[in-house]
Amino acid sequence: MRLIIRNIGEFFTGRIDAPTAPVTSLLIEDGRIASLNAGDATADRIIDAAGGAVLPGLIDGHVHPVFGEWTPAQDAIGWIGNYLHGGTTSMVSAGELHIPGLDYNALTPELVTSIAVVARATTGRVRWSGVKVIAGTVLLVPGMTEAHFDRLKDAGVRFAKFLFFPFAGREAEARDYVAWCHARGILVKVHTGGVSRSGASAVCGFDVLSWLQPDVAAHVSGGPIPMSDEDIDSVVDHTAFALEVCSSGNYRSTQRLIERLVAKGGLHRLVLGTDTPGGTGVIPRGMLRNILFASSICGLTPGQAIAAATGSVGFAHGLQEGVLEAGRPADLLICGPVTGSAGTTLSDAIAHGDLPGISHVLVDGALLVSGGSRQTPPPTRPAFFSCCGEAPSRFACTPA
Ligand SMILES: [Zn+2]
Repeated sequence: MRLIIRNIGEFFTGRIDAPTAPVTSLLIEDGRIASLNAGDATADRIIDAAGGAVLPGLIDGHVHPVFGEWTPAQDAIGWIGNYLHGGTTSMVSAGELHIPGLDYNALTPELVTSIAVVARATTGRVRWSGVKVIAGTVLLVPGMTEAHFDRLKDAGVRFAKFLFFPFAGREAEARDYVAWCHARGILVKVHTGGVSRSGASAVCGFDVLSWLQPDVAAHVSGGPIPMSDEDIDSVVDHTAFALEVCSSGNYRSTQRLIERLVAKGGLHRLVLGTDTPGGTGVIPRGMLRNILFASSICGLTPGQAIAAATGSVGFAHGLQEGVLEAGRPADLLICGPVTGSAGTTLSDAIAHGDLPGISHVLVDGALLVSGGSRQTPPPTRPAFFSCCGEAPSRFACTPA
């Protein structure tokens, strides 16, 4: 199956070092990007982007799934499909801690290992609404042995998170965990800032981060409570790992963090997530709103803000997704400014802080949203789809 997208007006690569490129067409073959600027290549299906924008599918670096599309955190059903219509095509679990009845004060190594293994084998086993959900992130607690990490690795667990781990007096044990994870290809994230909704999480600022050296410091500007301004500055100035900003955070701290990253040449470290479902709610347009805030308030170019929500998240989490180049998975959005927006291009709209309208979402080359998102207004110039010699339509056809 070959699909070509033509008449692309703006193209966002997802790469923080080169966020835009003069690309006007894109050929997809067998779910992957075959070539950019494919010219007159023949294809079974054609999308006319009508001068609209193409960007990578958004990667939410911080979600809290529990059981498939149900989140007990806000008693909502179908949240993953709703996020897809907000442009999110991949998401990374930051721990399945919202299981009803789970006692955060009685977590044992056996229990946290089992929860991650079960989440990996259930919610993390299949795609929900077509979204790539990496679930089964173990919540680290004291007393774990290498055997626990062996079991996690064998189950396919890819991420571990310090959330309920009391660091005081346990530095050596925490360092062992990081080493044991890395020896098994498991990346390490850590809750930062003040306590979270559960009230049971450990406080974590620059002091802990400086010696723990995780792969990703989660919600550095708050989730919901940020570390101090001085700690944010020190983390930017004296560490090198990825720094995540979430929808659950403190807006003022987010602005401080991003402006300092720019000033210090560290923008490649910025990754975005929502930290939802949770106390902040269920936010289908959360990743789009993160992009708008990072650009319109914090001063990033629209391309840089998009890269922080796509390629940078993918890189920090060891994913192939998030960058549009030959050989990568064809996960992408077609969108544009909404009628009435200050912007006449997607870049204008984002720089002004205006929500874009999504017309199509593709995951592995498959059209999962066509003819318009149910979570955004329609773009002013809708893209058109055609195949099998049919007349162009705003919706995907269903070949016999
Ligand atoms: Zn979280």
